[in-house]
Parts: sequence; structure tokens; C-alpha cells
Amino acid sequence: MRDQEPSHQDSTVSAAPTDVVVVGAGIAGLHAASLVADAGRSVVVLEASGRVGGRLRSTPDGADLGATWFWPGEQRVASLVAKHAIATHSQYLDGDAVYHAAEGAQRVDGNPLDVPSRRFVHGAESLAAAVAASLPSDVVRLLQPVSSIRQTNDRLAIDGPASMVTAQHVIIAIPPALAAQDISFDPPLPDRLAQLISQTPVWMGGITKVVARYDRPFWRDQGLAGSGISHIGPVREFHDMSGPDGAAAALFGFVSGQAPGSATATHDEVLAQLIVMFGPDAGEPVELIIQDWRQERHTTPAGAEQLANYQTYGHPDYQHPTFEGRLHWASTETGTVSPGHIEGALQAAERAVDSILAKS
Ligand SMILES: Cc1cc2nc3c(=O)[nH]c(=O)nc-3n(C[C@H](O)[C@H](O)[C@H](O)COP(=O)(O)OP(=O)(O)OC[C@H]3O[C@@H](n4cnc5c(N)ncnc54)[C@H](O)[C@@H]3O)c2cc1C
Repeated sequence: MRDQEPSHQDSTVSAAPTDVVVVGAGIAGLHAASLVADAGRSVVVLEASGRVGGRLRSTPDGADLGATWFWPGEQRVASLVAKHAIATHSQYLDGDAVYHAAEGAQRVDGNPLDVPSRRFVHGAESLAAAVAASLPSDVVRLLQPVSSIRQTNDRLAIDGPASMVTAQHVIIAIPPALAAQDISFDPPLPDRLAQLISQTPVWMGGITKVVARYDRPFWRDQGLAGSGISHIGPVREFHDMSGPDGAAAALFGFVSGQAPGSATATHDEVLAQLIVMFGPDAGEPVELIIQDWRQERHTTPAGAEQLANYQTYGHPDYQHPTFEGRLHWASTETGTVSPGHIEGALQAAERAVDSILAKS
């Protein structure tokens, strides 16, 4: 689903309480909404941006700018993929890797960098789009950022510049540190919880992802896997991100440690590195995309690069609702299984919904 303009229907003002309001239409929020709807309860998802998917973000032809893989054992992802008949394929693993150091690039025997995993043929965003499409049409409301959550007598009031709704329960399915920055709570959250959410790192929120697309996977002709590791940078690792048969050929990588506020890698720097590591053909991509997630207003709060305490992930305080059992946490950072991954987002959503359904 691509960006949309605000519509009249987006500016909803509702006095009737909804059973559950979900903040954020990433995969956690969408999965939670779908489980609530399946249980026969009313649900609304308020999404700040003009699209669904959050960190599941793909170009229209399926190149992933956010999440790329899911791994064996991630049962929730596998079952959602099966439920929505999402096309997937194996990560390409064959061939040798490339090691890039001060002396230049050298070939490494075999591919120690990639592990067996699966990819989404039409991009990871296709998973979010499928879950969103399975919901009744008025559930997901785009361009409705939530800026305040107030506890009233017997419900919660959820407000933003484009919406005013009330609900029995709220599921916050945005990175906790973003909630700390963007949402005011009345009464204030308990001190310990307020501190926890402001200290929880945003998974991959400080990362720049580089995607270089080619007319063919030329590296495979040379017996290369498309994987590489670099001590020089700016891209610290590369992987093959081609389509299932090598069509829609692509390499992708992550830019190494970026100082807060610093500029990310330039096209010229990335191209120069690609040529050193993968040869002259690598210098002629049909497209080079540099996606700096630090710039994503609805993913990464200011200063998030400095948050580094990953022990906050899945913290016990995220496992229990607050505001008299009405306010629940469900982004991937709050998951206890594979937190950070899509799997963690799904598990967190399931825990939040279980907690709501157990109460009523
Ligand atoms: C570059 C990158 C690579 C990754 N690679 C992988 C991978 O290979 N495999 C893997 O499993 N995971 C990967 N991840 C992580 C994966 O993308 C996340 O775990 C998952 O998408 C998180 O989903 P979520 O719903 O918890 O949060 P998000 O996707 O962040 O969704 C939050 C949603 O809330 C919205 N929102 C924000 N603020 C508000 C507000 N105030 N009001 C209303 N809505 C709001 C946002 O617009 C967004 O749509 C990667 C992430 C990135 C960025």
C-alpha cells in the first residue's frame, strides 16, 4: 500500500467507545487488530503515516528497504505467511564471500555470512499489506498520529490532530522510545515505566540500508554469493537481495556506526566500495537506494542512536498492562521471543491481545 492523501473519513471524531484502539499500523499493530477483530471485538488502528507496514517497507517492485528475512523456527511469521498465501523464497547462499580491509578486497572460501533464511517475493511489506487488506475497510485509519492518551472514568481517550476516539483498551504498537517522545500520558506513566520506554532502543532505527539494483546478478557468474564484510566501509556488510530466480537482481548492505546527526554514506562512496568489493559491473547499478532510518519521523525519535541498552527488550514491565489494565505494549521491542524481528512483533501483539481477551 503506498502513501495516500488524507480523506474526509480519515478525520474521524467518534464519541462511541471502541473495544480496542491500536496505535500504529506496523506488523505488530496490524496483527493485533486482526486478532481482536477475529475475536468479534471492535477495533480501530490509528496510523501516523500515509501507509501501513512501518519498518516493513518495500519498493513497488519488491526491494526491501526495511526488514528482509525471516528465519527457520519463526513459527508466527511462517503461519502468517501461510494464512495469507504470501509468496516467499530462499535466501541465495551459494558461492564465496568477499572480505574488504585496508589492503583491498579478497575472496573468502565459502559464505560464512549468510544463514538459511526466507525472503518475501514481493517484499516484506506484502505481509503487512495482506494483513491490512484482511481487515474490515474502516479499521485502519491513515494519517492519524496519536499524541495523547488520557484515562477517563471508565475508558481511555486517544487524541491526535486528526482524531479523537475512546476505547476500553489501547495497544501501543510503536517503538517505546517514540511513544516517550510523541505521546503524552494523563495521568503520567509510572516513573519506572516512563524511564523504561525512553531508554528502549529502536531496533534498526539508527541504521542506513543501501540497496543496489542491477539488470542481472553478475557476481554469481564469478561464483560469488553477493555477501561481503568490510572493515573500511561505509557499508559494513553486503548480501544478495535478488528475486527468486536472480531476476530483479540486487545487493544490499548496512552502513556502519553512524554518529548521531552525521550525514550517511553518499552514492559516490557506496559505488566506489561496491566496485572494490564486487568489480567494475557493481559500479553500474540500474538504481541505488540509500534509506537512512534515522530520518524516519514515525520510526526513530531524536537521539535514538544513543540508546544501547538492549536488555530492555521484552522487559517484564512491558508484559503487563498499565492504566488499570487498559494500556498494553506491542511493538517488536516489547516481545519476549525474537525481539527486534518480525517474529517478536507478532509475539508481542499476541500477548497484548491475549491479555485483553482474558479480561473481558
Ligand atoms: C533496515 C531494517 C532491517 C530489518 N531487517 C529485519 C529482518 O531481516 N528480519 C526481521 O525479522 N526484522 C527485521 N527488521 C525489524 C522489523 O522490521 C521490525 O521488527 C518490525 O517491522 C517492527 O514492527 P512493529 O509493528 O513493532 O513496529 P513498526 O514497523 O515500527 O510500526 C510502527 C507503526 O506505528 C506508526 N506510528 C509511529 N508513531 C505513531 C503515532 N504517534 N501514532 C500513530 N502511529 C504511529 C508508524 O508509522 C508505523 O507504521 C529490520 C528493520 C529495519 C529498519
